[in-house]
Amino acid sequence: MHIITEPAVYLVGRTQVDSYAIREFLESESTTWLTDGENGGELVSELAGRVCYLSFGEKQGRRSSRDYLANIISMEHGSVLEHAVWNFIVTGVSRSFTHELVRHRAGWAYSQLSQRYVDESDTDFVEPTIIASDPELHGTCLRAVETSHQAYRSLAEGLREKIEREQPDLKPRDKRKRAREAARSVLPNATETKIFISANARALRHFVEYRGAPDAEPEIRRVALAVLEIMRQEAPSLFGDYTVEVLPDGSEAATTVHKKV
Ligand SMILES: Cc1cc2nc3c(=O)[nH]c(=O)nc-3n(C[C@H](O)[C@H](O)[C@H](O)COP(=O)(O)OP(=O)(O)OC[C@H]3O[C@@H](n4cnc5c(N)ncnc54)[C@H](O)[C@@H]3O)c2cc1C
Repeated sequence: MHIITEPAVYLVGRTQVDSYAIREFLESESTTWLTDGENGGELVSELAGRVCYLSFGEKQGRRSSRDYLANIISMEHGSVLEHAVWNFIVTGVSRSFTHELVRHRAGWAYSQLSQRYVDESDTDFVEPTIIASDPELHGTCLRAVETSHQAYRSLAEGLREKIEREQPDLKPRDKRKRAREAARSVLPNATETKIFISANARALRHFVEYRGAPDAEPEIRRVALAVLEIMRQEAPSLFGDYTVEVLPDGSEAATTVHKKV
């Protein structure tokens, strides 16, 4: 068993454009599109915005892709940002974190590690920094997770024997599932989990705004800041307007003037 204090956020997928199909579309409209946009997420957002007003060719003006998207954000024309989607795997986070995360609905998709299928006998636990930094509180936390972890193992074993006795004809996989789904009830919120997330640019901005704010819970704030750091490099025209400040406790928070785009 390990105690984890840092989440890990992996960007594993992103929107791509099909340049050939875009050229076909532009030719069918007898127009052209000159853009200095460089990545799929920003290109689809700009393209979607330009389709609204057919602002291609001579009508597109001299704005850079960055200026164009900055205007979209300041005008709160956020629906065009919904076309750009990124995929992440987040690990080293607690079940409390994912409980808060999945409250974000519009524009999100989730696939989370199943405690019914996956054996949690060797799981790790996530400890809040404020507890980890205090030896006495850390000791209390450690004893609590070890006790519930031991109870989980005993229950899983006892349930396995009980199910074997009472329902011998169940498939082995279903016997394991029955035992684990009941035994997990004693695992704490601190239990480490892994979650696959997909979200569009508008949803990610909303998440960073709510969960990167100074008063957000520290674990989800840390993930929001990690997502922001990735997205600022990934799509600076869509995430470049945030300011990151260091709070008195040394942790970071993010704010923007463009709220709820
Ligand atoms: C500091 C903080 C404390 C919190 N405390 C609590 C708490 O004590 N208890 C609790 O239960 N939750 C709490 N929450 C969660 C909060 O209530 C929201 O569920 C969560 O932040 C997701 O926000 P959202 O609904 O705006 O996001 P999303 O679901 O991503 O929605 C984004 C936006 O889309 C629109 N939208 C989405 N779904 C609908 C819909 N069905 N109908 C109309 N419009 C829709 C809304 O404009 C919404 O803001 C807290 C959140 C924060 C940041």
